Amino acid sequence: MNDGRERLRIAVQKSGRLSEASLDLLRRAGLAFRASRDKLFLYGENLPVDVLLVRDDDIPGLLVEGSCELGMVGRNVLDEQRLAGDTATTPTRLLDLGFGGCRLAIAVPDGSAIDVPRDLGGLRIATSYPALLADWLRTQGIEAEVVLLTGSVEIAPRLGKAHAICDLVSSGATLAANQLHEIATVMHSQAVLASSPRPRSAAATQMLERLVARIAGALSGAG
Ligand code: ATP
Ligand code: ZN
Repeated sequence: MNDGRERLRIAVQKSGRLSEASLDLLRRAGLAFRASRDKLFLYGENLPVDVLLVRDDDIPGLLVEGSCELGMVGRNVLDEQRLAGDTATTPTRLLDLGFGGCRLAIAVPDGSAIDVPRDLGGLRIATSYPALLADWLRTQGIEAEVVLLTGSVEIAPRLGKAHAICDLVSSGATLAANQLHEIATVMHSQAVLASSPRPRSAAATQMLERLVARIAGALSGAG
């Protein structure tokens, strides 16, 4: 709506853990849509709202640029990008969505001598969330080396790349399968509805508030 668009855009994960629940919530909020031929968009048929299907990591950036007015994304992704400080402005967190629950946790190999967080001093920790981990280490007063890995973080200890990992956990089954166990929680996360920090016209703001109210209504109805 910053570029003369007359429709709102909401960014949702294209394919992953949040996709189905995000689209389901939009349907429960009363939005009916059909897919574009290239499967990048879902066009709202009954409201002036379109859904942009993207990688979850792209959602904070799309909100900061103003390419989308709203997005559904893990709080972990939002906070990582905010702490990484790539942009002066950051998206606004509006609502917790009640799905995508998980925690960012520190885990170590079974049988390791690392028992409590302070044992991590001077060691290497592999993660895909370097800013969240560095922030937590600072608050704990621990000096450790953060090793950035974008995938398969859980095998880093076996490869000798790190002594510990900092990764997202829900059931803990993946950790157990890799002979790892948790020693600390860095943050709790769930999917959130976030909005663009860019100013909009009064008409766009009104449309946005209406959609957010519908989503909030669908959430409370689900209880
Ligand atoms: P994309 O292709 O969109 O980048 P991805 O692989 O980064 O996908 P997913 O694995 O689908 O992302 O996870 C999306 C979000 O789901 C995470 O950022 C997190 O908020 C949430 N989540 C919930 N449980 C877990 C879990 N056990 N492991 C990882 N993420 C989880
Ligand atoms: Zn991702």
